[in-house]
Amino acid sequence: MTKHKIEDLRKKLHKWNHAYYVLDNPEVDDAVYDAAMRELIELEKKHPELITPDSPSQRVGTEPVSDFKKVTHKTPLYSLDNALDFSELEEWEEKIFRVLGIADVKAGSHDPAFEYVCEMKIDGLAMALTYKDSVLTLGATRGDGDIGEDITTNIKTIRPVPLVLNESLQGLLEVRGEVFMPIQSFEKLNKEQKEKGEKIFANPRNAASGSVRQYNSKITASRDLDMFTYAGIWGDCVIARSKATKQSANNSRNEIATSALFRQRRTRLRQAEPPCNDVLPKTHWESLQMLKEFGFKINKTSKLCHGLKEVKDFCNSWYEKKHELPYAIDGVVVKVNDLALHQELGFTAKSPRWAIAYKYPPEESKTKVLSITCDVGRTGTLTPVANLEPVLLAGTVVKRASLHNQDIIDKLDVRVGDIVTVRKAGEIIPEVTNVDKEKRNHKNPHYKLPTKCPTCNSKVEREEEESAVRCTNYNCPAQIQRRIEHWCSRDAMDIDGVGESLIEQLLKNNLIKDPVDLYFLKKEEFENLERMAEKSANNAITSIQNSKSRSLDRLIYAFGIRHIGKTIAELLTTRFHTLEELSQAATDDLISIDGIGPKIAESIVDFFKTDYSKEMIEKIKKAEIISKAKKIKVKDSKLLGKTLVITGTLESMTRDKAEELIKSLGGRAANSVSKNTDFLVYGVEPGSKLKKAKELGIPVLTESDFIKLVK
Ligand code: NAD
Repeated sequence: MTKHKIEDLRKKLHKWNHAYYVLDNPEVDDAVYDAAMRELIELEKKHPELITPDSPSQRVGTEPVSDFKKVTHKTPLYSLDNALDFSELEEWEEKIFRVLGIADVKAGSHDPAFEYVCEMKIDGLAMALTYKDSVLTLGATRGDGDIGEDITTNIKTIRPVPLVLNESLQGLLEVRGEVFMPIQSFEKLNKEQKEKGEKIFANPRNAASGSVRQYNSKITASRDLDMFTYAGIWGDCVIARSKATKQSANNSRNEIATSALFRQRRTRLRQAEPPCNDVLPKTHWESLQMLKEFGFKINKTSKLCHGLKEVKDFCNSWYEKKHELPYAIDGVVVKVNDLALHQELGFTAKSPRWAIAYKYPPEESKTKVLSITCDVGRTGTLTPVANLEPVLLAGTVVKRASLHNQDIIDKLDVRVGDIVTVRKAGEIIPEVTNVDKEKRNHKNPHYKLPTKCPTCNSKVEREEEESAVRCTNYNCPAQIQRRIEHWCSRDAMDIDGVGESLIEQLLKNNLIKDPVDLYFLKKEEFENLERMAEKSANNAITSIQNSKSRSLDRLIYAFGIRHIGKTIAELLTTRFHTLEELSQAATDDLISIDGIGPKIAESIVDFFKTDYSKEMIEKIKKAEIISKAKKIKVKDSKLLGKTLVITGTLESMTRDKAEELIKSLGGRAANSVSKNTDFLVYGVEPGSKLKKAKELGIPVLTESDFIKLVK
């Protein structure tokens, strides 16, 4: 099974590599490619015996198959490992420190002086340029990392590429850089191509690659290409430099401060080096400054950072401003500064250990709809779902996206086989936002929601003025399962370890019929289930027992009554202090609470009239679930009546804790920014909400501003 999956992924990735690197015509979005590659790497990590040298996970790019002359690179051109979030960046640092033998140094905190260089990860293509005695002699593409294509004639047409260096140099200097096409030029080129009825490029990267790999160099010259140089390989050259330049290199070297630990280590390493040309750079930062003096174009945004905290700040600040750059980037390349440490860290099969690409999460991606199915929710609502070719979105692999309801399906006209745009709505559930109808090459019919429940085959109904279609059978197995899952969820009774598959087994074995049955289960009953043993059974029982003292608002929310979300449940507990009181409330009592309208009131009253709810209340008593209303300390609170929205990761507390804090001080924690928002609190990696708040002129608070406010 795994072997089959691995083979399937490899086949797909090989095909996509060919389309991307050779034909400059990607078949899938980068996020789809990245999701498949991650899946392959994960599977190979679990089954190292299945790794083969030709696996796409072990190779860079793909072999060049063009008519350009092939060149073997003296030093291979590698790919980069990537980090999708800061925890992966921290893991990378820990790994580096481990390889360097500094096991007690934990990520970030212990060595704020450790130096990194942060550079934009430009979406272009890697180029290797060789200079012999200061003259450009070869320009080559990366190819498969070992063998590239000789495109010297074309490279010479790119203006920022120096044909002769400013400084006198003997021997060979190889530089590496990224050739790219600025966004404006890419859009202009595509417009012209369209007018001429010629090939349109999918993105600036493919446009740059297609332009640089032309057999007629006049075409390359006519395209607006640019190049930033980001590395030099200095080992084979001798530099006859002026005294002044030499002094400036020495000065910049002295400025480079590292922690005592690394200074010691570097001194030791340098003592071991053979005596050589003393003007050669010792750090990557120095190397960049020297390349600039030699006449290469260096990206001005690059920064020497001390410690991972500065690296993260760099990544965050450019995430906000990335659209201001005239070229496309997809993240930040972080490199260890000390070149002696590069030697010590070395390479894996595919990438250097001393560098990593911190990839910005794509806000939306394109992928293919493989099928459309319907989920039945806890209130019976049928939600159409698009099952997708897996795609990386905001740091996670997405395989399904909501299509919400028939109205939205009709509006989008989404069909099986379509290429669609998916986006994370409210940063949680992905949704389909657009269909690329130009790419439709099938005759699949328009999708219609079923007229019978896909689980229990009962009649479905669409209520007046509602877009949702609902299964009418309260005892529908899908509804029961979802109701129990909802009861156990984090915001409800928070029963850790009792998830979807365990609940499915408990239902299948007739051990439970409703959520409260969970409280009467015995350890042996858990132990007899698949994939359960004594320890997991004990854990499940403990979590269930611990949930007996959750606050009343959570218990009300856990029932899953229609229209009763977390906020309404909390609102109800300001008036009703026990479940019994709420169950006897009349519609008028309910609507007298500010924020509760007739629709909600009616839903509550209807629910507590049902036999199901009466039975549940009796069982709750028997199970000794004692839920008390939370005390709200609203006095003197600066948050009283204020609406706050949180975005990004807070470092000193979880998002749930922060929301609880806001509520305990009389404020409201909302999910989206609107003109009614009073404050936006932002942490690390804030989402688009920060931008929106700024646009609306809403006061924004850092985590420490927020803490000062609530103290
Ligand atoms: P990579 O993401 O592994 O990064 C390595 C490359 O980054 C280098 O070769 C260099 O070209 C570039 N780079 C940009 N700025 C740099 C800097 N400052 N310092 C060092 N390098 C810098 O790139 P890769 O190995 O060429 O390709 C992998 C990526 O390409 C995938 O993650 C995927 O997103 C994309 N891809 C997409 C498809 C597709 O079908 N859509 C197919 C193949 C690859």
